[in-house]
Amino acid sequence: MNVNYDFSIITSVLLSILLFYNLIWPRLPIPRTKSFLVLMIMEVITLAFDILSNWAVVNAESCPDYLIQLTCVIYFTAFIVRSYAFFGYTALLFELVGRGRNEWARKTSRAALAFFLGLTVTSPFTGLVFSFDRAEGYHKGPLHPAIYFWMAVLIALGFLLIIFRGGSFRQFERNSLLSAYAILITGTSIRFLSPRHIAMNSFFMLSTVILFLTFENVDLLLEQRTQTFNYQAFEMVIREYLNSSSSFWMCAVLPRHYQEAREIYGGEQMDHALGLIARYLKKSFPKMPLFYERSGCFLLLCRTEPDRVRVRRLLQERFEKAWLTMDTKVYLSLVYAETARDLKVDSLETFVEGVRRLLDLAGSSARQDYFFLDQEMVDSIRHEFSVRRALNAALSENRVQVYLQPIVDAVSGKTVAAEALARIEDPVIGLVMPGEFIPIAERNGSISQLGEQMFSKVCHLIRDHDLDGQKLQFINVNLSPIQCMDRKLPLFFDEIREKAGVPADRIHLEITEEALGDEELLKSQMEELIRRGFSFVLDDYGSGYANLFRMEEYPFSGIKLDMKIVWNYFQKPTPVLPSTVKTFSSMKIAITAEGVENKEMMESLCGMGCTYLQGFYFSKPVPAETFFENLDAS
Ligand code: C2E
Ligand code: MG
Ligand code: MG
Repeated sequence: MNVNYDFSIITSVLLSILLFYNLIWPRLPIPRTKSFLVLMIMEVITLAFDILSNWAVVNAESCPDYLIQLTCVIYFTAFIVRSYAFFGYTALLFELVGRGRNEWARKTSRAALAFFLGLTVTSPFTGLVFSFDRAEGYHKGPLHPAIYFWMAVLIALGFLLIIFRGGSFRQFERNSLLSAYAILITGTSIRFLSPRHIAMNSFFMLSTVILFLTFENVDLLLEQRTQTFNYQAFEMVIREYLNSSSSFWMCAVLPRHYQEAREIYGGEQMDHALGLIARYLKKSFPKMPLFYERSGCFLLLCRTEPDRVRVRRLLQERFEKAWLTMDTKVYLSLVYAETARDLKVDSLETFVEGVRRLLDLAGSSARQDYFFLDQEMVDSIRHEFSVRRALNAALSENRVQVYLQPIVDAVSGKTVAAEALARIEDPVIGLVMPGEFIPIAERNGSISQLGEQMFSKVCHLIRDHDLDGQKLQFINVNLSPIQCMDRKLPLFFDEIREKAGVPADRIHLEITEEALGDEELLKSQMEELIRRGFSFVLDDYGSGYANLFRMEEYPFSGIKLDMKIVWNYFQKPTPVLPSTVKTFSSMKIAITAEGVENKEMMESLCGMGCTYLQGFYFSKPVPAETFFENLDAS
């Protein structure tokens, strides 16, 4: 049989280049990378033995029998394993393979692999896949097509996986995967149509090049200055550690006052120093993968916990000496951070956030040179993520609840108003308080949506209840400083109010002192809302920097004394609180004292001249319906 080797020559060259780079470049210590190396080695073996076995068969007269049989067995074995390796790599990309995951699939595929390998290895005796003897020459056995069937099934499985579960990949990654598999399908078809061309190897090689460029190009994972892995690579390794549920240790090594040092020594010297630090770390801790994060910060990882004290001492000693750059001695002092022993982390997201916070702390440290990521920090981040999830769900399902807390007239002692306070009742983590979700909502921009929901629900409550009948004058709604900066807010609130048919004077808007930032914008927003009939109350007066002079500039109709200054007064009375109340009274500004917790406080604040009182002494915030029921009952 005449065989055309044209494809094989170019394929071998390309494969060798690819393999060479893969061997000399740093490799991430994750199964995916190892699996890719196995795939390439299998391709090289398949290609080599495809050529060798063909050559041996063609030149049978000068080749001993056992050599012909052996090259054929190795070729078929490598052929079978290569398809398996290709599919295995794809499965790892999908993270379908990991400790304890898809165990049945792994067992089934291994059993099938063993079966096909068994067929091949025994073929010299059974002739099932191929047979060779001097009289008849080389012959395909009756089960020869089964080897191709195996390959076709694996390719089809990989292809289906991408079609149905490829949504988590980025578009170009998915396209790359699809094209890699399309090439294999084309190759398989050609192999059937034209068996004389050794083309399958070229198709496998092409697909592998596509995978390499998309997923294994280590250049994308290297930080150029230090030639260490970058943060993306760090996340990949952590994901792998978490997938295989193995515990691990991490330490961060960073120079104190990195930016200042950069200014003193200059960028070039500092980059050189970073290169030296990287080299030192690689040399001193060769078993630990090294990553460069940012601002001079290196991260070391280790699956088994090293001798912590020794590692830290070694680094401290080295950082006491200078880093000799081109012509300068660069002195840097060390800030060191590490993870706690047996840290339990449930997700990559939590850990990455923990590391970010740890490095922010370490990076801004003026004196402290040791930081620690402990379980408490990780748990609080995890809780914060649950709160974030609860917040997003409540917002999208319009489930933010309005609780009302009575505001009592100081003279009559009757409830004359209420403050609306947001609550989230989450099916998973239960009742969440605003102290937890408001800061998150302010950070991720969803505070406006939350404010709208609260405002609109309060409008509906006013619409659905007879406020006059219950002797309620108004309901206070809290506005976040960020919400105040939205120029469309006045129009938007007015529209909601009008739709509900609620007079604007029924709603008082509370803003905190911190909102007094962009003064001009805030003033114009307030004036616009006041023109539409709303009133403004300054919340938490005394907790920040607002003073009487600034107060005069703003059109507030009332202030709420922050509960801390109220409580401080009752712990240690000074004339400040009574004189503040007196001054506001003389300015005809209504004063609400918050945090009234007992009778003594009530009487004293009433005597001082406060207009309204609010606090647990009267009632805690309760669900809106309960509030109205209580009013009815009283
Ligand atoms: P705030 O507006 O100053 O609300 C008063 C807070 O003090 C409420 O806490 C209330 O439950 C609590 N409080 C009232 N009386 C007493 C008392 O006698 N003793 C004690 N220990 N606490 C008392 P809450 O409901 O946890 O709200 C905390 C803060 O969250 C609010 O402070 C407000 O700034 C913010 N917030 C609540 N709801 C919203 C909202 O819908 N939008 C915005 N932007 N912020 C909100
Ligand atoms: Mg308030
Ligand atoms: Mg307040």
